[in-house]
Amino acid sequence: MVCSGCSSSSATARLLPMSHQHVVLRRFLLGPLYWRPPFCSFPRTFKTLAVHSSASPSPVLAALIAPEASAKVIDGKSVAKQIRDEINTEVSRMKDTIGVVPGLAVILVGDRKDSATYVRNKKKSCELAGINSYEVRLPEDSTEQELLKFISDFNDDPSVHGILVQLPLPSHMNEQNILNAVCIEKDVDGFHPLNIGRLAMRGREPTFVPCTPKGCIELLHRYGISIKGKRAVVIGRSNIVGMPAALLLQREDATVSIVHSRTKNPEEFTRQADIIISAVGQPNMVRGSWIKPGAVIIDVGINPVEDPKSPRGYRLVGDVCYEEASKVASAITPVPGGVGPMTIAMLLSNTLISAKRMHNFQ
Ligand code: NDP
Repeated sequence: MVCSGCSSSSATARLLPMSHQHVVLRRFLLGPLYWRPPFCSFPRTFKTLAVHSSASPSPVLAALIAPEASAKVIDGKSVAKQIRDEINTEVSRMKDTIGVVPGLAVILVGDRKDSATYVRNKKKSCELAGINSYEVRLPEDSTEQELLKFISDFNDDPSVHGILVQLPLPSHMNEQNILNAVCIEKDVDGFHPLNIGRLAMRGREPTFVPCTPKGCIELLHRYGISIKGKRAVVIGRSNIVGMPAALLLQREDATVSIVHSRTKNPEEFTRQADIIISAVGQPNMVRGSWIKPGAVIIDVGINPVEDPKSPRGYRLVGDVCYEEASKVASAITPVPGGVGPMTIAMLLSNTLISAKRMHNFQ
C-alpha cells in the first residue's frame, strides 16, 4: 500500500490557463443543466464576456473564476446500472422467446481476499441482470491439470455461455496455458490472443472485446464524447487494459499515443491529448499540470492508499490526481465509481452477446 496524496502541490492546478477559467465561468453562469460535449466551442456571447472580464475582473468575477472542480463527473456506477437493466430486459426476452438463460462460469483459485471480492461482485451482478452464474473455488495448491479439467467441462457445457478465470493465478500456474484453454466462443474476458489479434486488424471483428477497455469506450459513448479525429493518450500497455484500450480508440478513428514506464517526459504526450485513459497502477501519478484544459479523463487505476480516517485504514484512488484534474478536465471518471462498475457490466454484456450468438437469437 502506498501513502500518496496530491493536495500538497495543487499550485499547478491553481495556475490555470485562461481557457480553463472560461470553462469554469461558463459552467457557473449557465448552471448544472448546461453541459455540452467537451469539444464544442464556446457560445459566442459568452466568449465576449469572458474576454472582457479577464482584463480587470471585479471581486465577484474574481471569485467566479477561482479554480473549483468544474469537470463533469462521468458516473460509471449509474451507467453500469442502466446497462444492467438493459441486459435484464434482453435476458427476459430471450428466456420468454427461446427458453434460454445466459450463463457465466467463474473459476477462482486460491484465497486472495481481493479476488474473492471481485468474484462475489460478479455473482451479485449476474443475479441482478438475471444471468445464471456458476462458481468454482479451487484451493491455492490445485494443479494446472485440475483447473484445466474444470475449464474443459465448462467449454462443453451448453448452459455456460461465458467462462472467466479470475486473475491473478497462483504463481505455480502458467497463466497463458490456462487462458488459452478457454474456448474462444466463451472467452467473455476477451483475453484470447485471437481476440486481441482481430482487434488489431482492420476489417476483422473480435469475438469479444476485453471488458475494462470496452467499459472505457462505452462511457465515452454514453456521455456523447466524440472520439473520431481526437488525440488520445493511453497510459499503460498491459494486455488486459492499456493495449486493447489503445486499439479500440484507434478503431474509433482517434490518433493514439501509448505512454509506458520507459516513456521519457510522459506529460509532454498527455498535455496534447483530448482524451486520456490511464491504466498504470500508480496513485495520483497524473497531475493537473499534465492535462490539457478541457480534456476528458478516464481513470482505470485502482490503488489503495493509507488513510487513517477511513475505518479500513486505507482508501482507493486512481492513477489521476482527481483533485487537480477535475479543475482542468472537462469530464472525468471518479475512483471508485468510474470504470470499475463498467468492467462488470461489460462482462454481463459479453455473456449476453455470447448466448445470443450461440442460439442465433437476434
Ligand atoms: P499492469 O501492471 O499489467 O500494467 C501497468 C502498465 O503501466 C504497464 O504497461 C507499465 O509499463 C505502465 N506503467 C507502470 N509505471 C508507469 C509509469 N510510471 N509511467 C507510465 N507507465 C507506467 O496493470 P493493469 O493494466 O493490469 O492495471 C492497471 C491499473 O488498472 C491497476 O491499478 C489495476 O488495479 C487497475 N485495473 C482496474 C480495473 C477496473 O475494472 N477499474 C480492471 C483492471 C485493472 P511497462 O509496460 O513499460 O511495464
